[in-house]
Amino acid sequence: MLIPAGTRAILYDLDGTLVDHDHAARAGVDAWCAELGLPDGQWDRWRDIERRWFTRFEQGRVSHLGQRIERCREFLGRPDLSDEEALAFYERYLTVYRASWRAFDDALPSLTQALSRGLHVGILTNGAETMQRRKLEATGLWLDGMVMLATVELGAPKPSPEAYSGAMSALGVGAGETVMIGDSWPNDVAGPRRAGMSAIYLLRDGVARERHVPRDEPVVSSLEQIVWE
Ligand SMILES: [Mg+2]
Repeated sequence: MLIPAGTRAILYDLDGTLVDHDHAARAGVDAWCAELGLPDGQWDRWRDIERRWFTRFEQGRVSHLGQRIERCREFLGRPDLSDEEALAFYERYLTVYRASWRAFDDALPSLTQALSRGLHVGILTNGAETMQRRKLEATGLWLDGMVMLATVELGAPKPSPEAYSGAMSALGVGAGETVMIGDSWPNDVAGPRRAGMSAIYLLRDGVARERHVPRDEPVVSSLEQIVWE
C-alpha cells in the first residue's frame, strides 16, 4: 500500500504493530499460573479479560491503573483483593511480560525507512509512556528522532479525537499530511480517518479480522507491504 504524496508524518501504533504484545502477555500469564498454582492454558481467558477492561479504559469508564487492578481481580476470581494486593499480583505478571518482549521482524526496517525519508515518526499508543518507551528500547526499536506519544500522558486514549489532535500538534503537522498505521480498526484506522488522516490497517497473519472492518478494506499483513515513493 502506498504512502500518499505530501505525507510528512507517520504515526505507528505499538502493541501488535511493532512489538509482539500477545507473545509476551502469553508468557506472562503462563508463568503467573505456574507460580500461583493455577491450571495452565488460560491465555485465551486472560486475553478476553484484558481486551474487555482495556476497552473500558479507552471509553473513559476506568482509569489506566484501574483496568490493571480489575483484570487481576477478575482473572484470579478474587474481587476481595485490595488495590495494592491486585497491583502486587500484576507486578509479578509484568516481570515475565517485560522479559518476553520481542519486535516483529518488519518493525525496524519500516521505522528506519520512515526516518530516512525525513518524515516525522511518532508512536501513538494507549500504553503508559514509561513502559512503552522501555519496550521500544529493549527491542532495539527506539531510534533517534522518534517521538513517543503515549495517550495516558496526552490525556485522551485512542479513539478519542483529542488523542489524534494531540499527536499532530506535538509533531507540528496537519491531518492531511499524516498517516497512521496499526492493528486496531477502531483506534488506528477508523479514529484517525475521522480526524482527517490517512490510515493503513495492519492485519498480521493468524490474527482475526475485527468485526467492523468493511469487506473491501485493503489490508497489509506486514509492514513490508507499505510502499514508500
Ligand atoms: Mg495495537
